[in-house]
Amino acid sequence: MYFEVTSRTPIRRILFALVLPVMAVGIISCATVERRVQVPVLKGMRVHIRPVRVLVGTQTRSKPLYLSSSGKVKVYSGDAKTILATITLERTPVSLNRRKSIVVGQTSWDLPAATAAVIIVPEKGGSIFVGDTRYPGCIALVKRGESVLAINYVAMEDYVAGVVSCEMPRRFCRPALETQAVAARTYALWTMSRTRLLVYDLRNTQASQVYRGLTRTYSFGRDAARKTAGVVMVYDWKFLPAFYSSTCGGHTAPASQLDSAPRIAPLSGVECIYCQASPRYRWVITITVSEVEEALAQAGYVSGKLKDIKVTSTVGGGWVDTVEIVGSDGNRRISGNAFRRLIGTGKFYSANFNIRKAEDKFVIRGRGFGHGVGMCQYGADGLGRRGRNFVEILGHYYPGAKVIKIY
Ligand SMILES: [Zn+2]
Repeated sequence: MYFEVTSRTPIRRILFALVLPVMAVGIISCATVERRVQVPVLKGMRVHIRPVRVLVGTQTRSKPLYLSSSGKVKVYSGDAKTILATITLERTPVSLNRRKSIVVGQTSWDLPAATAAVIIVPEKGGSIFVGDTRYPGCIALVKRGESVLAINYVAMEDYVAGVVSCEMPRRFCRPALETQAVAARTYALWTMSRTRLLVYDLRNTQASQVYRGLTRTYSFGRDAARKTAGVVMVYDWKFLPAFYSSTCGGHTAPASQLDSAPRIAPLSGVECIYCQASPRYRWVITITVSEVEEALAQAGYVSGKLKDIKVTSTVGGGWVDTVEIVGSDGNRRISGNAFRRLIGTGKFYSANFNIRKAEDKFVIRGRGFGHGVGMCQYGADGLGRRGRNFVEILGHYYPGAKVIKIY
């Protein structure tokens, strides 16, 4: 069902896209995905999912990229038609030569600019390391300007197992891990439906979903992927943009809190009293006025002296829509999220906050961690511990979305 790369199976041929309208073919039965969980199954059409393409490394002049392999690898031209070499990679550097061709170790291949890529495929049972991280599937090296991108082509279920292993801790309950698997699979498919013409679908960071290949794929992630294999969420017969974040702090955020999220009913925000076990359910930070002043001045948001900052509007559940920056030379409004990013999302945990000036400091009291849109990961664990299964948990956080099994 997934891709298997051999010299007789050009990679281009296996990159067929999943066709969504096939879902209308019909849901004619239910499968027991696990004990007590019934999920409608799409039947009557074989659904093929192409490999997920994840950006896992970037080589630049200042940042080298090294590849290693367990066993031999075949190097194909980017169109997968020609085997350029069969080699072993041992911390082999990737670079561009003067003619802007990709160089792996000492060997360069003069490729036409339009197909300036090579695909590295391990022999059966082997795998490839990018830096110290081991990846399943194969690695494409694609030239972009003066740098080379390393892109992991990975089968969907291996990818889902890897994401669950990185996005949730092992101690989370089984229903929460399964909820995460469905959300990760659906988010990937939604993204893939929009990236066909690009060279990769997802990053391996929180900008998309955290993924560290086989190096950080654990048995609890594999179990969650296997138990929910092929289960996805759809809304209006399209893959749901299944956003999620760590802790909502009491109410998930409406989609308007996130530029990339479409404003649809399943992302409108729901109450959640299940994430209280999160260390960021409530938090307080203090920042000096001069620190905030400097961050705002650098971004060009304030001139003169910073006098105060006020929350001017909130949306569902206290998520801050806008703040007003009161300066000696005038006032300015920016979004709550823009303000959070200026201070740093690592220490300013969410855009659900209030702010108070106390002498030379701002005291910020907040709720939750992350953008807050979609599933609350700590809340999913809380709901699972209250006896809910993954279909019920998904139903709580994405109201109106359908949970179906497509393969
Ligand atoms: Zn929550």
